[in-house]
Amino acid sequence: MTKKAPGKAYQKGISIIELNDMFPDEKTATKWFEDVIWPNGRHCPKCGGLRTREASHKYMPYWCTDCRSYFSVKTNTAMQSSNVSLRQWAIAIYLCLTNLKSVSSIKLSRDVKVSQPTAWFMMQRIREAWACDEGQDPFDGTVEFDETYVGGVRKNSRTRSAGKPRDAGRWT
Ligand SMILES: [Zn+2]
Repeated sequence: MTKKAPGKAYQKGISIIELNDMFPDEKTATKWFEDVIWPNGRHCPKCGGLRTREASHKYMPYWCTDCRSYFSVKTNTAMQSSNVSLRQWAIAIYLCLTNLKSVSSIKLSRDVKVSQPTAWFMMQRIREAWACDEGQDPFDGTVEFDETYVGGVRKNSRTRSAGKPRDAGRWT
C-alpha cells in the first residue's frame, strides 16, 4: 500500500488551468483566505475583537464594533500594501508551494500577471508566511497561515523549519 502523505498529489506541481478552476474569481479566493486566516471565525485584525459585522465599504467589507474600524482579510498582513488581488495571491501561493524548486519570480510574474519585482515580493512573503515544504498542500489543514509572518513581524523562532538552513531552497 502506498502511503498517502498530505499533499502528495501536488508534488509534481499544479497547472495554471487547475488553479484557475480552483480560484475562478476574487470571491472564491477571498473565501479561501478567510477560512485559512480565521479558522475559528472572523475577528478584528487590529484589536482581536470578535464583535464584527459586514460593512458596505468598498475595500473593507467588515466593521469592528470594539475598536470601531473597518477591516478585510488583508488588513495587517503583507497582502494589504499591494495592489495584488487575493486571487493572484492564492494562485501564487499554490504555485510556490507546489513547485518550490522551479518557480522563479520571472515565471511567477508571468503566471499571475504582476511585475517581476512584485512577484519577488510575493514570493518572499509567501515563504515567510507558510514556512513551506515542497509539495505541501495548503488545503490539508496542517499549514498555518500565520498572521505574524504575513505581517512581516518575524518572531525569533521558526519552530516549523527547525534544523533547516535558512537559505535552503532559496527562491530566485
Ligand atoms: Zn477591532
